[in-house]
Amino acid sequence: TNTSTTLRESADHRLRSRAARVVPGGMYGHQRAGLFPANFPQFLAGGNGAIIRDVDGREFIDFLLGYGPMVLGYQHPAVEEAAARQRALADCQNAPSERMVELAELLVDMVDHADWAYFAKNGTDATTTALTIARAATGRAKILVERHSYHGAAPWCTPGVAGIQAADRENIVYFDYNDLASLRDAFAEADGDLAGVIITPFKHNDGVDQELITAEFAGALRTGCDAAGAVLILDDVRCGMRLHLGSSWRDVDVEPDLSVWGKAISNGYAVSAILGRESLRDAATSIFSTGTFWFAAVPMAAALATIAELRRIDGVGLQRRAGDRFKAGLVDQANAAGFEIAYTGPSQMPYLRFVDDVDHKLSFEFSEAALEHGVYLHPRHNWFVSTAHTDEVIDRALEGTGMAFNQLASA
Ligand code: PMP
Repeated sequence: TNTSTTLRESADHRLRSRAARVVPGGMYGHQRAGLFPANFPQFLAGGNGAIIRDVDGREFIDFLLGYGPMVLGYQHPAVEEAAARQRALADCQNAPSERMVELAELLVDMVDHADWAYFAKNGTDATTTALTIARAATGRAKILVERHSYHGAAPWCTPGVAGIQAADRENIVYFDYNDLASLRDAFAEADGDLAGVIITPFKHNDGVDQELITAEFAGALRTGCDAAGAVLILDDVRCGMRLHLGSSWRDVDVEPDLSVWGKAISNGYAVSAILGRESLRDAATSIFSTGTFWFAAVPMAAALATIAELRRIDGVGLQRRAGDRFKAGLVDQANAAGFEIAYTGPSQMPYLRFVDDVDHKLSFEFSEAALEHGVYLHPRHNWFVSTAHTDEVIDRALEGTGMAFNQLASA
């Protein structure tokens, strides 16, 4: 009752009531889909480093990071300074600034398969543009997509079906991750009309164990695309700048033809990128894909600063260190409290699931308890760490999760 009184009188609750009148459903995305426990704030007021603050002044150590972008932490001085410097000149104009060329040069230099770069705003814009390039290059229609992967909220791939026409997806052929037989079937079904395949670097679908791609499966994607003359698209929107600065598939030794980047490339500013091989340059030149804000210079300045900082401080190494420390602590705590968990995914973007947890009930209770102790952990989505998650921050978070596990064990 204490909690419900607090909730009723909270600034967050007042904003929810106002939003319910003027925003359909009061909210969209995960907040409306019931993917958060009730005590999670729906509105946030600020952030710094690894910490976010809600509209009621509560502070949390954040492991969602805006769904991934804040790879250097909130309000990173070098990024904010670069953004402010560019903002003093201009942001949205009739044409791009010098920053666009600098960013394209930087990405082409960093990423092996990239001979050119094309910019957009969101991951969804960029994955959709990548499909357009693949279709322009091949003159074909069909795209192979892993059945449950999220590539954005466009009609060809959004997980919701309301308002979506069958025609929006008639050229999408599905396969299952790491399932060679289903991939073979999908290639066969699209035979003669295959434009491309889009895939995430590892299976990071919501609410299920994360799964690294097998070398065999990645190889089969490459040979299948080569045999069909189709375009292999790596959707690195969620993983980019987290697993490896030069493409998340560096380690499996398979090169895509196109890769799509967003989220962490600019530490919270809206810009995404499509990188491609020389052989697709003409196709990328031929398409008409643009937007009013696609040339905006501030996000590009932020991206330049973000990538420079990630390189300077070994950003991937720091993320891995933070993730490893968090994992070791959580696994110990779960064992001590007597819970069987599956802790999957790379250190930088882990996902914790309770074994035999019907309807994610324990996950919800755990996230709810962790939030009470100052730690923001999404119950159904992979977590992210940033370079601002220092040893000291991780240890503080573990104090909170330790209490959360104990609370669950004694419930
Ligand atoms: N692809 C992947 C793998 C993603 O995780 C996301 C976002 N969660 C997208 C594409 C879409 O990006 P955005 O939300 O910026 O449109």
